[in-house]
Amino acid sequence: MTPADGLSGHTADPPGWQGGWLREARHCPSPNFGPRPAGAVIDLVVLHSISLPPGRYGGPEVEQFFGNRLDWDAHPYFDQIRGMEVSSHFFIRRDGELVQFVDTFERAWHAGRSCWRGRENCNDDSIGIELEGLEGDSFEAPQYQRLIRLMRQLAQRHPLRHVAGHEHIAPGRKLDPGTGFDWAHLQQLAAADLGWDRGYFPEVTHPRANGPDHPPQDGASA
Ligand SMILES: [Zn+2]
Repeated sequence: MTPADGLSGHTADPPGWQGGWLREARHCPSPNFGPRPAGAVIDLVVLHSISLPPGRYGGPEVEQFFGNRLDWDAHPYFDQIRGMEVSSHFFIRRDGELVQFVDTFERAWHAGRSCWRGRENCNDDSIGIELEGLEGDSFEAPQYQRLIRLMRQLAQRHPLRHVAGHEHIAPGRKLDPGTGFDWAHLQQLAAADLGWDRGYFPEVTHPRANGPDHPPQDGASA
């Protein structure tokens, strides 16, 4: 499957899809993407958390950030991410609303330096999903429900075999989605609704201690 296949109509779109765009998502196209390498097998979902400013939910800042439209002077925290050009494929808000920024056949810029299942540069062959949240904070039931529904839809479009957090593919560098994300709950939902066994998920879901010397929050997920 290549982008051309998906978009030219030579390959039938699964229900709900138009090429690499999920029809029921709110589309908010980002300029921050590029082509995947030839032959990339899109089999990994990478989960992140983000909120801008960190811990403030419901505003337009994440969409502005991924669209290169954020007013860097609007909040002191934005100095730390000033000028960054990043994106994910999807964003799931606290109420479960789904936003799509990048065609899934294209390469979004969410993982940075990373390695998983023996392959580096996870942006090449993964789908990036941002959950509106904060490292250490819990997530809402509608977010888990929407995530499961999205992964079912993605599995009809791409040969998914792995799910991991940014903290797993970039250990020591990234901490999201964080200790408040309930991997056991996600695995239960995925087993019940998708038939995905434990082999899809990281063996250790929170590999680092979250003690008092925990590194500072990194709200932006490059
Ligand atoms: Zn991240």
